[in-house]
Amino acid sequence: MGTYPWISLLFAFGFLFNQLDASAGDADPLYRNCVEQCERTGIIGDQTIQHCQYSGNDMPSNSSWYMQEPLYLQWKQLNCRSDCRYYCMVQRENEREKHGLNPHKYHGKWPFKRVSVFQEPVSAIFSALNLLTHFIGWLTFFILVNYKLPLRPQSRRTYYEYTGLWHIYGFLSMNAWFWSAIFHTQDIDLTEKLDYSSAVAVLGYSLILCLLRVFNVKDEASRVMFAAPILAFVTTHILYLNFYEMDYGWNMKVCLVMGISQLLIWAVWGGVTRHPSRFRLWTAVFGCALAVLLEVYDFHPFHGYVDAHALWHATTIPLTYLWWSFVKNDAKFRTSTLVKKAK
Ligand SMILES: [Zn+2]
Repeated sequence: MGTYPWISLLFAFGFLFNQLDASAGDADPLYRNCVEQCERTGIIGDQTIQHCQYSGNDMPSNSSWYMQEPLYLQWKQLNCRSDCRYYCMVQRENEREKHGLNPHKYHGKWPFKRVSVFQEPVSAIFSALNLLTHFIGWLTFFILVNYKLPLRPQSRRTYYEYTGLWHIYGFLSMNAWFWSAIFHTQDIDLTEKLDYSSAVAVLGYSLILCLLRVFNVKDEASRVMFAAPILAFVTTHILYLNFYEMDYGWNMKVCLVMGISQLLIWAVWGGVTRHPSRFRLWTAVFGCALAVLLEVYDFHPFHGYVDAHALWHATTIPLTYLWWSFVKNDAKFRTSTLVKKAK
């Protein structure tokens, strides 16, 4: 693929995510009226929203300090708004469905059906399964390098030079999927920031790891030289998202550039070095590239549950398994090469 299709892909992403603030659903005056009235009265149709009912009991005088204003009231208001938005959306969507209309987005998100505390149950479950797959992948890697493969006779350290780097990768990945599961359960400002920041962190780190492995960077000083500019950029980007502006379009571009460049580097390196696990590596890279397409075709959820984003989280589960199996093969391959050399 040449440069132009990539650029247009980036613009497609930018366009998609620039739409986040004003979605068709929440621009609808009927929806706006519904939310406004609900927040004021706590009533939608024949339903009452508990969080929007304020009474003297809401601020008991002798309870602990943290239960009092403003924290407790703020929490109640937050829940009131979220519940009103949800039930008004359900009401509007039911009416639209009766007229045979397709779902609209509300505040940048598709209308999902809640299940108990879960706002997007399918994405939350798939995120938890990704976390589990990373844990199993990391654990089997840990056992392999420390107990199954030979260790260096003097230092008792692993022959594989990238062990520590993959441990950090495992930790950052599990952290990212943990926050993803929390964010898809309860979407509030804080959980969104934690999810986005953790995802950017793991993506930036895996780019560093990719470069270190591909260029066989082994000594500490050179590793720092490779890592420093990317680390500085990723840190600045995370600070920007958290404390300046949550710019979805810009963030998506940053993530796409970091993601696509590492996929390409891995794929080319696998071919050039004729790595023994290159077919596994190529399958994982190709799978990731296809998975990214799911984010481009941002279709509305089937029956209010499974949308493109949820499917994207589903496809990364087998890819994670494949990826860790590549990492383990790389450890075996490097160890056997180094042991042969030592003899
Ligand atoms: Zn997600």
